[in-house]
Order: sequence, then C-alpha cells, then structure tokens
Amino acid sequence: MKNISILGSTGSVGTQALAVVQANPGLYKVLALTAQSNASLLISQALAFEPVLVVIGDESQYLVVKSALAGTSVRVLAGEEALCEAAALTEVDLVLTAIVGSAGLRPTIAAIEAGKDIALANKETLVVAGDLITSLAKKHGVNIIPVDSEHSAIFQCLVGEGNEALEKIYLTASGGPFRGKDREFLANVTKAQALKHPNWVMGAKITIDSASLMNKGLEVIEAKWLFDLDADQIDVIVHPQSVIHSIAQFKDGSMKAQMGVPDMKLPIHYAFAYPQRISTDFKRFNFLEYPELTFYPADNKTFRNLDLAYTALRKGGNMPCIINAANEVVVNAFLQDKIGFLEMSEVIENCMEEIGFIEEPGLNNYLETDYHTRIFANQLVTK
Ligand code: NAD
Ligand code: MG
Repeated sequence: MKNISILGSTGSVGTQALAVVQANPGLYKVLALTAQSNASLLISQALAFEPVLVVIGDESQYLVVKSALAGTSVRVLAGEEALCEAAALTEVDLVLTAIVGSAGLRPTIAAIEAGKDIALANKETLVVAGDLITSLAKKHGVNIIPVDSEHSAIFQCLVGEGNEALEKIYLTASGGPFRGKDREFLANVTKAQALKHPNWVMGAKITIDSASLMNKGLEVIEAKWLFDLDADQIDVIVHPQSVIHSIAQFKDGSMKAQMGVPDMKLPIHYAFAYPQRISTDFKRFNFLEYPELTFYPADNKTFRNLDLAYTALRKGGNMPCIINAANEVVVNAFLQDKIGFLEMSEVIENCMEEIGFIEEPGLNNYLETDYHTRIFANQLVTK
C-alpha cells in the first residue's frame, strides 16, 4: 500500500488521479487532498476517500469545508502554509503535484525536504526553479517521476538505459486547435476557440498553453531538468494524433518511442505504480483506428512562444521564471478577454527584456522574480 498526497485534487489531473486510486483498491491510500477554491468537490472527495488532512487554499472557504466535515476524522486546514503540511505529512510516500502554476513551487520543496517521492504534473515548478528542485531532490534522495505524458514517455524509454546513452529526445506536440492557422487568423481567435483542444480535456491554463505552443515551450524546459539535457538535445515534432507520446534517440542511432491512447490516467498510473507495472482495464490502442500517424515541423514563426521558451532555456538564470510568470498573467488576461491571442507573446517578450536578469538565482530570487514579473505583466495587459 502506497500512501499518497494529492495537491490540486479538484483539477483535471487531480480528479483523474483519484479515478486511478479508485480503480486499484488496496494499492493506494490517499492521505491528503488539497484544492484552491472548489470547496464542494473537495468536500465530496474527502467524504469518499477519508484522508487524514484536507487543505483549502482559499481561506475564506475554510468554515464551509470545516463544517461539512465535522463529525468525520478528517483534519481541515486552509492557506498556503497548510499546502506544505499536506505535502510533508509523515506517513506519505508519494506526493502528486497537480497544482497549476508556480503556486506549486513551495509545496514541492516542502515535499522534497521531507523526503517524499514526487509524481510531478506541475511542470511550472521545474520551469521556474529546475536547478533548485533537481539538486534538492538529489540531496534528499527522492525520485521525481514525471506525469506529463511526453516526459513519462521519455522516462519509460530510459528505463534500463544510462542517461549517457541518450543522444537526444523528440517531444511530440499535437499542435493544438490552431495547427496550420496563420497570424491573421490568430489575431481574432476567441477563448472559446482556444479552449477546444483536439485530443485532451485539461484545465483552462494548460489548454490555452497548448493552443499557443507555450505548453510545449514549458515542456522543453521541463525536459532539460528531468533528463539533464542541453537545449540542442531537445526537439519538438508536431504529431496531431497524440499517439506517440515522445521519442528517445540513443547514441547508436536507435530510437525508442512510448505510445498508447491519449489518456492522462496512463502516465498517472505509471507514476503511482513505479517501479512496477500494474494491470489496468484502460482502453487499449487499436492500430486500425489510427491508420495514419503523421508528423510535421513546429511552426515557430506563427507561434512565437516556442522560440521564446528556447531563448529562456539557453539564457538560463531566472529567465525561465520570468517567462513562466509572464505567461501565467497573459493566459489569465486572455481568459478574461483583456488581451488578444497574439498579444500574449508580445507581453512575455517585453517582460523578458525588462525584468532584471539574475545569473545564479536562489529561492528568494525566484520568488521575487515571479512577483515583479507579475506586477509588470499586469501593467502591460491593463494598458
Ligand atoms: P486544473 O486547473 O484543472 O487544476 C488545478 C488544481 O490546482 C485544482 O485542484 C486547483 O484547486 C489547484 N490550484 C489552482 N491554483 C492554485 C493555487 N494558487 N494554490 C494551490 N492550488 C491551486 O489544472 P490541470 O489541468 O489539472 O493541471 C495541473 C498541472 O498539471 C499543471 O501544471 C499542468 O500543466 C499539468 N498537466 C496537466 C495535464 C492535463 O491533462 N490536465 C497534462 C499534463 C500536465
Ligand atoms: Mg504534456
């Protein structure tokens, strides 16, 4: 029995993780659940899974959750500090970080410092502070097992291989809902169009990131830290069917790809079961349902975010933190109809030029960079 803490249990990844737990009775025990503001779903999850602790991020909802769970043995806490408590709970073996955005940074650090293995969905944490997170993980001897489907693919391809055998990786990208469109078209797209992803149902932020290719940009940076690669060793290839989840190419020219139906429950289940493989009754892949698998280059002239992410990765320091914070602001602004689709890249680029560069940042530098970038980006989007 593995004891698991799920940070962000009410989101797309969080709810699918609970479905994985439910489908494997006796294998996993959920000890902590956290949500930012969806109190009613958090309450029903707590009643169903009977964790030791639930945390509601939004403190104004504390009493709602507390009174709904009165008479149960579930402890209720609220606020950001309490998230760290949920991450570091004594009996927990594995923490699933399914919070969206850099809000996941501190709880992830708390989990690592408490010696917990991490099933990492929250890619923004690695983008913001990849050096810090990976060196802390090494120091505390914890595994970081990727949940992002592309990175789970590479991780699975590398089982039984040494990292030194790896030449490069190809991250596959669906291309999102606007694949093949030009800038004239993109200038007028609405959030409703951007929120319709062809292959995956996900939270709003990552869905917009997928439409703008920033998701792939963030994933390139995530891959750098997970697999210790240089920017030149990470390529992006558009593969609209999302069946090949990513590809590792080795020094002898041989390639391994991991494939399967596009279903996040698979990489979540793999991360929970690792290092074992455990049977599931998930839908099996049928080749005849996909008679053609196709591949295209990424259109980085139309979708500028991908180049911006590579630039940030090559520059290093706090630049990926800047790009991430700016992106969180512009995605919110786009979702509130404050800016257009193409303006998102413009604001991000502006932040990359204007926010002070720090070559070797520590945690406080990252927190300050995140804070200042958000203020500056917010000024740009409200202009
Ligand atoms: P989501 O918006 O559906 O859910 C986010 C969860 O985090 C919710 O439970 C929410 O309550 C919580 N949360 C939001 N803001 C918070 C804050 N400030 N503090 C604490 N908790 C907060 O998002 P999602 O689609 O499940 O994505 C979660 C993470 O997983 C993201 O980093 C995303 O990039 C990554 N990811 C998601 C998918 C997917 O299929 N959804 C695939 C790969 C990677
Ligand atoms: Mg992904």
